[in-house]
Amino acid sequence: MKYIGAHVSAAGGVENAVINAINIKATGFALFTKNQRQWKAKPLSEKNIKKFKEYMQIHGFSKDAVLPHDSYLINLGHPEDEKRQKSLEAFIDEAKRVEQLGLKYLNFHPGSHLRKISEEECLDLISKSINLAIKETDSCIFVLETTAGQGSNLGYKFEHLAYIIDKIEDKERIGVCIDTAHIFAAGYDIRTKEAYEETMKKFDKIIGFKYLKGMHLNDSKAKLGSRVDRHHNLGYGEIGLDAFKFIMNDKRIDNIPLILETIDPSLWAKEIKLLKGLECTNT
Ligand SMILES: [Zn+2]
Ligand SMILES: [Zn+2]
Repeated sequence: MKYIGAHVSAAGGVENAVINAINIKATGFALFTKNQRQWKAKPLSEKNIKKFKEYMQIHGFSKDAVLPHDSYLINLGHPEDEKRQKSLEAFIDEAKRVEQLGLKYLNFHPGSHLRKISEEECLDLISKSINLAIKETDSCIFVLETTAGQGSNLGYKFEHLAYIIDKIEDKERIGVCIDTAHIFAAGYDIRTKEAYEETMKKFDKIIGFKYLKGMHLNDSKAKLGSRVDRHHNLGYGEIGLDAFKFIMNDKRIDNIPLILETIDPSLWAKEIKLLKGLECTNT
């Protein structure tokens, strides 16, 4: 089966994310477990944790269907030691929050070299940071997101993620999330059946579907290969609806969270219904 949802708000307490997911008839969701634009956050209270777990159970959400996203401030490949250390500490804190909530995954962007070090040096620093985070935590699976390659962000080539995975000591603790808008902007076409199959073949060969732990379903305002990260609502952008039909009927993409990060949250309920409707149609 497919878990379909959106990156919902957790304002007022993490437990509210579950309610916000229910309200749009989602079967999965993403959330920030703290304010994504601040370094420090209050620890989760016992009350928040208890309520979150309770709501998850009442509404029948599996932990396999939830894909928490880390803060945008974190850069595990930061060229400066002090700043990378600050990122790593915040990253470990986020992973511990995930574990406290009884969840499984932490989705993050690999990192940026800031034009101060080479891509390879930056990828080595990212791998090192992840290995350290794995040692400091119990069970969280760290899910690398494919990026559009805007600015000096790494992760815009499947090879970048494969390079990192190769250096991770405990492969059970590492995974990948494909963001459709990001891979498209990075130059991987998915608009036709042939292009979709070609891109997924590359993904399987270079990274492997066994590492795929989630997807972000977004249309793209930016053109193929533009390296510009601009999400759009499904069917409104450069990708178009066919790609999402291919995804919804791809068995390799079962049992992982499929998360909308499209720009108009008032359309999420509609988009979830649309995605469910694309399943099982003839492709
Ligand atoms: Zn992301
Ligand atoms: Zn994304």
